[in-house]
Amino acid sequence: MSQLQSLRGMVDLLPVQTRRWQAVEAVARAHFRRSGIEEIRTPLLEVTDLFARGIGEATDVVGKEMYSFQDRGDRFCTLRPEGTASVVRSVVQHGLLSQGTQKLWYGGPMFRYERPQAGRQRQFHQIGVEWLGVSSARSDAEVIALAWDLLEVLGVSGLELQINSLGTSEDRQRYRSELVDWLAARSDQLDPDSKQRLSSNPLRILDSKNPQTQKLLAEAPTLLGALSEESTQHLQLVQSYLADMDIPFRVNTRLVRGLDYYCHTAFEITSDQLGAQATVCGGGRYDGLVQQLGGPPTPAIGWALGMERLMLVLEAEASANPDGAAASLTATCAPDLYLVNRGEQAEAAALVLARQLRTAGVSVELDGSGAGFGKQFKRADRSGARWTAVIGDEEVEAGQIRLKPLLIQAEEQQVDLKDPSSVVAVLQTNT
Ligand code: ATP
Ligand code: MG
Repeated sequence: MSQLQSLRGMVDLLPVQTRRWQAVEAVARAHFRRSGIEEIRTPLLEVTDLFARGIGEATDVVGKEMYSFQDRGDRFCTLRPEGTASVVRSVVQHGLLSQGTQKLWYGGPMFRYERPQAGRQRQFHQIGVEWLGVSSARSDAEVIALAWDLLEVLGVSGLELQINSLGTSEDRQRYRSELVDWLAARSDQLDPDSKQRLSSNPLRILDSKNPQTQKLLAEAPTLLGALSEESTQHLQLVQSYLADMDIPFRVNTRLVRGLDYYCHTAFEITSDQLGAQATVCGGGRYDGLVQQLGGPPTPAIGWALGMERLMLVLEAEASANPDGAAASLTATCAPDLYLVNRGEQAEAAALVLARQLRTAGVSVELDGSGAGFGKQFKRADRSGARWTAVIGDEEVEAGQIRLKPLLIQAEEQQVDLKDPSSVVAVLQTNT
């Protein structure tokens, strides 16, 4: 029978990777706790209309990347392609905005039908932050700092923060017609994709990866030029707060976000380690979205960070800098104690002891091979455990076992097999 494979673009995380992911997630969780941000978990499956309304029909995500189907009750469902629309839906549905500002984070899988390549999958994972009910330029800077500092705590270097303003919807309308006029007069120089976007979503042309289009755009009118005074001032304030925090940034007037609901501040954090898929984190302000999804008018800002791309950056960082913070995140976790055991009575006694020690908080690797002592000792050495203990039938008869230090400087100790607390005591005094 032919062997089954995971779907294209759907990737398994094997234990060696999960270990690293958990370390990164733990750092993120602690970072959010320190920052007064609480976790929200929403379903992976939502009604298709949420994304059609919340992201916009003209975007790539809704237009061609969604996993949508009808369920057995004929409901139109979509596997979430991003987190923001779901978080807003949930906050509105549960009336959380009546309790004031919501500072939330989420993490988990997202689904987009894209062409898989390094840093681009069909099931990928994001960690994201959403602040609802805040409108000040200072909150923009604070939210950007949250992303920047998380990457810094993780030990990532070679990052660049780019910011831009998308202005108000009036600013964008004004700019859109200016840009369309300008580009329409030069449409013979546009790539086919961009030509199509001229009518559907012209601002996305700014984001085109086509080199010739990019060259043409260098001459095009910029969004900054079309900003109202209020929008210009907001952007300037964000810049001055970032400067106050010593966070380096570059204004990129061609930075637009893929999703329709953004306004004012938009930003991306890119890495020089990622090639074509350089954006690790992207976000911005989306003041219109809550209302668009049926909630009260509520300003909001957020970002989402791609875990797969972050892990690629961390791995590059760890090999370039083996003593840095990123490298320590990728270190393996060894057990406290490796239990070598052989013989009928000994194996039963080892099973009991391993269980007692684990419930007492000690991490124990119980050798289950039944192999000779020599082989088991070799495995104990390789396991990275700090201690090992041998249980043979002799030890069971005597009721005593010997704890031997493996990777640490300590004395060998004899302890009572029937008294796991004495084993715990030895392990704890010699950490
Ligand atoms: P891109 O231009 O790379 O497609 P995007 O603008 O579609 O990115 P967002 O919707 O802003 O991406 O998502 C935020 C982050 O999630 C991205 O910066 C990236 O790190 C990650 N991401 C997005 N799509 C994928 C994907 N298909 N596979 C892996 N990571 C992704
Ligand atoms: Mg995309």
